[in-house]
Amino acid sequence: MKMWKYKLRNLINKKRVILLFFLLIITLNWNKCLNKQNIYYYEEPTIRLFLTEQNKCINIPLEEYLIGCVAAEMPSSFEAEALKAQAVCARTFALRKCLDGKKYADGADLSDNPNNCQAYIDEKTFNERHLDKNKILYSKIIAAVQETRGIIITYQGEPIDALYHSTCGGKTESAKQAWGKDITYLRSVKCGYCKDSAYYQRQQEFTWEQVKDRLHLTGSEISIKVMATTDSGRVKTVLAGNQKISAEKLRQSLNLPSAWLNIKAGKNKLLINSRGYGHGVGMCQFGANGLAKQGNDYKKILRTYYDGVDFRGLSY
Ligand SMILES: [Zn+2]
Repeated sequence: MKMWKYKLRNLINKKRVILLFFLLIITLNWNKCLNKQNIYYYEEPTIRLFLTEQNKCINIPLEEYLIGCVAAEMPSSFEAEALKAQAVCARTFALRKCLDGKKYADGADLSDNPNNCQAYIDEKTFNERHLDKNKILYSKIIAAVQETRGIIITYQGEPIDALYHSTCGGKTESAKQAWGKDITYLRSVKCGYCKDSAYYQRQQEFTWEQVKDRLHLTGSEISIKVMATTDSGRVKTVLAGNQKISAEKLRQSLNLPSAWLNIKAGKNKLLINSRGYGHGVGMCQFGANGLAKQGNDYKKILRTYYDGVDFRGLSY
């Protein structure tokens, strides 16, 4: 009898050890939800978002955040498939930021500042910006987020750095040419789909006095000459007077929409023809709308701009 009891106790102890072992495995996997290649969310993640104007953080469920993000980042008049492509981009971009672990002000996961993260507006702000048909337009955005719930873009199993911009002007820029970082899926691709954008081609005129002033140039002889361009034709550096100036500084100083420039120096004026709006890397938003108008779905749109990518659905 004693032997039997001993064996039973021993068996129970063994079962306990096995149970504990499995619990340990589950716990380790649970932590892996922050590992880029093994993302599992057992419930919808909550984002800590920094709101710049209010100077405060809010906690917001990811999919609710995405509605405000798509509302701020893409015209709601765009086609349904373009809005879906934007929702998937924004979701991937947000998760990738969270996984990379870079924190914003007040320890936030994300910020509503589009200069270093993604823009975000709440429904009230959206309604103020769209006095006509705001309910119809907002419901289009909600549908785009809901119909792509949990879907992200991956490359070799990892969520990609889903960069996007307004208008490429005919050809996107590679990450390597833009920032010297070679990212396989962020190559330069031809885009003939963004011609509806007001920024597809643009012309601006400046007097030499304005150029001198805004670039803080000295001396009486002012000239501007392109020194180097990227493979897609975007300007890298210019020589202004005797100063070497980066395209970024030139863009900021003269308020130019992109670095894809054709500079014509006249006797009295400087004429700048630009193409596109934004850095030109990744998805072209106006191009996405052009592709949607041609009947392409959001996956086809995203595959046009992100080379060799796949999709994954997170089941939360
Ligand atoms: Zn484009």
